[in-house]
Amino acid sequence: MTTSLSDAAAGILYATGAASFFLKRAGRGKALILAYHHVVPGRLIRDNRLMTGMYLSTESFEEHLGFLTRHFRIEPLEKIVALIRSGASWEEPLCAVTFDDGWKDVNDYALPLLKQYAVPATVFSVRGMVGLQGPGGLDGVFEAIQMTDRLVDIRSGVAEIDALIWSDAILDRVEKARQVINRIRELSYDEFMKTCAGINRYLSGTFDLDGIRWKYETMSWDDMREAQEQGVDFGYHSKTHPILTNVPAALLEEELTLPLKEYGREGILLKPVFCYPDGKFGEEVVAVLRDERYMGAVTLQKGFNDAGTNPFFLRRVNIHEGNGGSLSRFVLSIGIQNR
Ligand SMILES: [Zn+2]
Repeated sequence: MTTSLSDAAAGILYATGAASFFLKRAGRGKALILAYHHVVPGRLIRDNRLMTGMYLSTESFEEHLGFLTRHFRIEPLEKIVALIRSGASWEEPLCAVTFDDGWKDVNDYALPLLKQYAVPATVFSVRGMVGLQGPGGLDGVFEAIQMTDRLVDIRSGVAEIDALIWSDAILDRVEKARQVINRIRELSYDEFMKTCAGINRYLSGTFDLDGIRWKYETMSWDDMREAQEQGVDFGYHSKTHPILTNVPAALLEEELTLPLKEYGREGILLKPVFCYPDGKFGEEVVAVLRDERYMGAVTLQKGFNDAGTNPFFLRRVNIHEGNGGSLSRFVLSIGIQNR
């Protein structure tokens, strides 16, 4: 399998122009959708404990843009979704660039590069996360595990999560946080809320958070208007970013209803394209999205899309420093060699 290809082999693949060869042959009629979260200078990634899979350096991002603009026609996501819905096929490989959650660093570091390369992008906004100076939710869980001297001081209120936090089995704090957060994601909606609230209460009651707020600042309405003026589209990513498959049916509509008027009052035109929080979705979720007249929705299932892809199950490749920190790794991660 291609996953066993080393970085060196990937480097050769790229250097020999094979990527371009593969794309010409196999990219035809395909659309690649990329998912990014935070973009910050590489030194900030090297010098800080950060949540796994969420950060890409500006240096890597610029390399990606160079590669993508050479090999793809980059279009706004909405346009690609409309094309797929139309049933028409196309020739040239297409690509859409998306950012999840609406982090402020996208304004600070990604926007100037998007402008320089004339690349359109879509930011998936969470209504409850506009203009925050965080951390909160699972980000607060991550920070509590990084900042505490004594893990036993953290009490989530859910015995199973506490046991995992207190256990000596994993010493690396970033890895511990990753595992704890994955377990919290599996809890019922009520337990999920209770756990996050409990740990965030401990965090804000124990530590001065000023030194880490830069990691969790989200776009304000002003930032969003600035981005929109520079050609960024906004799609929707739920009201509070819950795991939708755990949300009680009665709350689902509230999470998914497109707040067109509310965003409109702030000068933001929301596009009817949805992004499943953590990529999780089920039949009920899709049914509500259809009722709400969304055009489509993006997942975190890897792969290319084509004219036959269901617009509510759009494949998307999540890119971060771990799988996109060099151009050769990026080329492997987007899966060109599988085509
Ligand atoms: Zn998200």
